[in-house]
Amino acid sequence: MAMEASQRPLRLRCSVQNYDWGRFGEESTVARLFRRNSGKEIELGRPYAEFWMGTHESGPSFVVAAEGSGTEAVTLKKWTGANPGALGNKVVEKWGNDLPFLFKILSVAKALSIQAHPDKELARMLHKMRPSVYKDPNHKPEMAIALTEFKALCGFVSIEELKDVLVAVPEITQLLGNDEASKILSQDLNGYVDAKSFLQLVFTKLMTASKEAVSELVSKLKARLDLENKIRTLTEKEQLVLLLEKQYQADVGVIAAFLFNYVKLSPGEALYIGPNEPHAYISGECIECMATSDNVVRAGLTPKYIDKQTLCSMLTYKQGFPVILRGSPINPYVSRFRPPFDEFEVDRCLLPSKESVEFSAIPGPSIFVVVAGEGRMEVSSVVEELKIMEGDVYFVPAQTEIRLSACADGPIKLYRAGVNSRIFA
Ligand SMILES: [Zn+2]
Repeated sequence: MAMEASQRPLRLRCSVQNYDWGRFGEESTVARLFRRNSGKEIELGRPYAEFWMGTHESGPSFVVAAEGSGTEAVTLKKWTGANPGALGNKVVEKWGNDLPFLFKILSVAKALSIQAHPDKELARMLHKMRPSVYKDPNHKPEMAIALTEFKALCGFVSIEELKDVLVAVPEITQLLGNDEASKILSQDLNGYVDAKSFLQLVFTKLMTASKEAVSELVSKLKARLDLENKIRTLTEKEQLVLLLEKQYQADVGVIAAFLFNYVKLSPGEALYIGPNEPHAYISGECIECMATSDNVVRAGLTPKYIDKQTLCSMLTYKQGFPVILRGSPINPYVSRFRPPFDEFEVDRCLLPSKESVEFSAIPGPSIFVVVAGEGRMEVSSVVEELKIMEGDVYFVPAQTEIRLSACADGPIKLYRAGVNSRIFA
């Protein structure tokens, strides 16, 4: 009997975050899924930014008790703590009685802060030194899979592009000082060490400039681009910079955007972000997965606390365009996105009407979320079959084989997060 109880999929009631960069009302997939998931109405005056599925204390998921069972809702964390068998031995051995990943949906109306997430060692240190700011001792690698066109800044541009920036953006040259800039431009920067220290110098100079200096540079930059817009077509990066200026006037991030890669993902494309890599999501909706943590060091495009010193010293200053994942098909309906991190992978499942697909039993836990459509979930070890629809979220225990079917009316679209299957290899 105990076996059956821990192999049954558990319906989850999930939390939302109303961060100020989120989308409003029906425009927000987060709001729509939350309404379906919780039965609560959407508050029209509030932004719905993130839908959290997992065990993080800042936005816990609750196990929905069976009707008439008379038991109170418990958090998924409490439940996995009491039922570690549902996580599988390997996961418990590696991460304890908790889910190692946090699964999210994001609805982005305006840019999030430019940020980086510390590696494990730095995360532990920051948490020890400033627990009120750095709440987690854990690292936070993350991956975003686009649901709509999704725009982001990610990682530093190549050294060649950076040289072009110095030529094309006189405001940055002004900040560096003409002597410094021409010294850099005249130098041969092919050696990795040189390129890296050059980039670090430019970035640190920018981040540590006074508020007044930044404000002056941003307004100069805006005035120049507004003028040039009348006589030529601005580059995509320049158009982005003007958009960011509208959202965050006089913010250092408006200028810093020139130093980062501008990435545009189409639906089904993904981006992953390793420790100590700078990034900022700009607009669109995505599925996100990460190690269970909420550690952020911010660098701009935010009214929140900015820890410049930590940020400038922690970054890897790695350069070049990020890797874009497109998912590897594991059957006709499911593609797997597997980033180089142990904590997670994500499957994307697009099932046409009346079709069905099997998710074989694996030695780790999964979370399924239905993003659109409806259908059924069948579990081989349990007789009952579950009706599933948009907004439903299920925790599926380790070693549970399930079969999903789309209803006759239309396709069903869902995502599964689990620990990276490479740890079972
Ligand atoms: Zn991030």
